[in-house]
Amino acid sequence: MNTINLIGNTPLVQLQHYSTDKVRIYAKLEMYNPGGSVKDRLGKYLIERAVERGLLRRGGQLVEATAGNTGIGLALVATQYNIQCVIFAPEGFSEEKIEIMRALGATIYRTPKAEGMLGARRAAQDYAVQTGAYYTNQFETDDNPAAYKETLAQELLRELPTMKYFVAGAGSGGTFSGVSEVIQAQGVKSVVVEPPGSILSGGSKRKHDTEGIGVEEWPPFLDKAWIERVEVVPDEVAFRHVRELAKHEGMLVGSSSGAALEGALRVAGRIEQGDIAVVFPDGSDRYMSKRIFQYGGF
Ligand code: PMP
Repeated sequence: MNTINLIGNTPLVQLQHYSTDKVRIYAKLEMYNPGGSVKDRLGKYLIERAVERGLLRRGGQLVEATAGNTGIGLALVATQYNIQCVIFAPEGFSEEKIEIMRALGATIYRTPKAEGMLGARRAAQDYAVQTGAYYTNQFETDDNPAAYKETLAQELLRELPTMKYFVAGAGSGGTFSGVSEVIQAQGVKSVVVEPPGSILSGGSKRKHDTEGIGVEEWPPFLDKAWIERVEVVPDEVAFRHVRELAKHEGMLVGSSSGAALEGALRVAGRIEQGDIAVVFPDGSDRYMSKRIFQYGGF
């Protein structure tokens, strides 16, 4: 047994306060992964496939652009392969995630906030070209959705065979795409959640505080046909749900989980009956420096 074996098979918990007899909402609690987020699954998959394919050796170096959780997943798994992780992270995201990546041995470079994730991606790609480091390229590789096809999708089908709807936020879009592709074949519908100004809903770019979601470029692996609906959730609503989940359910989640819950509640409001599965990608503790429970003056 090592830390990598603890990735996946996270708990699926029914939300008592938000479910009714006819419409039940179940949350996949991804904070229970060893690195604390849904992106541990991706870190494991990207490194294992690259090593298998001979693209990355023990003792080698990889580079990625990330707001933090993917970097934590990669850095955590890299420790078991003696791989050096180089991470390009835009300024402005939570400092806890940066600290955790450093603790796991990653080297971090910050890119300007104004350039967003696209700026960090350009910097990571340049670094790979200049140094020969392996670029895991989460925003474009089919290994990203595959990580979720092979793990999260299978877990949900097994744990909630009555699932009618699946709800998840999109950052890279990997979680949503991978799970949606598999479950559509079983007749389950998918709803994707994003903040205002993100491109799945055709918005023009706007600043948002919900961390981890928001898409700047259409993900190449995301098929429009998988999206039953895009739900746009404002920051205030996402953070209100974070506070309420703590009080009503004893669940300590990050703001993208709050946004995802709003997506699930909107589905619940328009169906007569059925079970809804929603992904809660990480926990509140990595956003304490951002005063996650006080957002909006509470
Ligand atoms: N929530 C959080 C907190 C995240 O870190 C991420 C990953 N950026 C997501 C949601 C979205 O996941 P994905 O990249 O698979 O769309």
